[in-house]
Amino acid sequence: MARHKMEFGICRLCGKKTSLSYEHVPPKVAFNKNTKFVSVDFEEYIGAENALKNPPKGKTKQGGIGYNSFCVNCNSFLGSKYVPAYKNWAIGGMQLLNKKEEYGLHGYTIKEIEPLKVIKHIVSMFLAINRDWFLESFPELASFLNSPESNELPDKFRIFMYLTRAERFRYMHYSAHGNFKTGTTTVCSEIAFPPYGYVMTFDYKGKISYLNEITDFKNFDHNLKTSLNMVTYQLPTYMPFPLDYRSENKIESDIDNSLRQLEILKKKHDIKKND
Ligand SMILES: [Zn+2]
Repeated sequence: MARHKMEFGICRLCGKKTSLSYEHVPPKVAFNKNTKFVSVDFEEYIGAENALKNPPKGKTKQGGIGYNSFCVNCNSFLGSKYVPAYKNWAIGGMQLLNKKEEYGLHGYTIKEIEPLKVIKHIVSMFLAINRDWFLESFPELASFLNSPESNELPDKFRIFMYLTRAERFRYMHYSAHGNFKTGTTTVCSEIAFPPYGYVMTFDYKGKISYLNEITDFKNFDHNLKTSLNMVTYQLPTYMPFPLDYRSENKIESDIDNSLRQLEILKKKHDIKKND
């Protein structure tokens, strides 16, 4: 088994400056025990001319994806309070991916789910992947987690989910994402690891196409175990950008189109030069 080192820093849950243990995101028991993964700098992707056909190489790592983000106490608090509920939720999603066809809208029932604990664990994953200013700016998130019975997640935070095989894992920090077609901006953070993708939005009022909002999980009683009827899309995550669920074919044709437009622009430019 790979060993993970402690690191010194600010705990994303209690805010103490101390040594931080390695937190698996998602938890080890949710299919992230021995994940091999390639770590690529975001800048490398931006620099790559065609990141789909020739992805930047990056470094291969092993032992499960995670971050040194919580102190030992907070890590074991999360582990005992929320991880078992999260594990059931993840197993349910994985069973579904194992039998259903690709990229459709799935209607299904998922049993023995503790929605409040699940959403708390999802929030903890967003705390884990974001930098330490995140806790300082959004202390409400830590209060929501620190008291297991609390239903107090302010309305400015919303959580959306989708089913995914996560063709590429997605660990996107808090960032603003503009949609050129609609002219809207979404401030969000996104995590995609099979079987689920999650988007957390900040002060966002609209809908997000294809995503299933589960913010309502915050209103359940902390002891409630229930069956949930879900209607959820399975979406691909080929590109390392938040809210990008294009298929491989669509990305290729988009790239071809933009290259063609570039050629047209170049030609126009050449004609002008020759005038
Ligand atoms: Zn802590």
